[in-house]
Amino acid sequence: MVQRQLRPRGIHDERVLEAMQHVPRHEFVPLDLIDYAYDDRPLPLSDGQTISQPYIVALTLEAARIVAADIVLDVGTGSGYAAAVAAELASRVVSIERQPRLAASARDRLSRLGYTVTVIDGDGSVGWPDGAPYDAIVAAATGPSVPVAWVEQLAPAGRIVMPIGSPRGAQRLAAFTLTAAGTLREKNLGAVSFVPLVGAQAWPEQGDA
Ligand code: SAH
Repeated sequence: MVQRQLRPRGIHDERVLEAMQHVPRHEFVPLDLIDYAYDDRPLPLSDGQTISQPYIVALTLEAARIVAADIVLDVGTGSGYAAAVAAELASRVVSIERQPRLAASARDRLSRLGYTVTVIDGDGSVGWPDGAPYDAIVAAATGPSVPVAWVEQLAPAGRIVMPIGSPRGAQRLAAFTLTAAGTLREKNLGAVSFVPLVGAQAWPEQGDA
């Protein structure tokens, strides 16, 4: 996966590549899809959700420029895979999931595999103030814009990497850096396709744009 997919596509950060090499992705996919765990594509999870394509997880975490002392908020735990990779890179990872069943199984899986990740049940579109400030906030669900709460919970020079755009239309993966002036500077990482970020500071309950 690292040699055939991630390096050729331009992932260069050695810490990210090592973390991707280390996390057993087959532990995070449904049992009937285990043969496809390391394929170059997203896979369905329960409850209509997906585990992102490995390249997209690597691209997101590379753009988040995580260093070992960082505290990271991962919005949309899903299987817990991205949270596990983030845990290899950061000092603390908080991951938040709005579907209680997914949160519970990710919590069990992460602790069984020895990852120290705080999995919170709730609406990540409002962040999680108790763990703030975060050096990086990453999301695997698309919103109309950066939630205000995330900016408020970001440390100086913090990064936010999230898909922006309509769940059924055009989306881009965007990497933002908080400037000294308190504004966000954006870098567009290209077109992507994610499930909606459903919540108070994103799309309404049905996920309609
Ligand atoms: N990072 C995950 C991918 C999960 S897909 C992995 O590695 O497997 C996106 C997830 O975001 C879904 O599980 C969905 O339930 C969740 N989600 C959507 N809106 C949310 C919100 N407002 N707060 C928390 N989780 C949310």
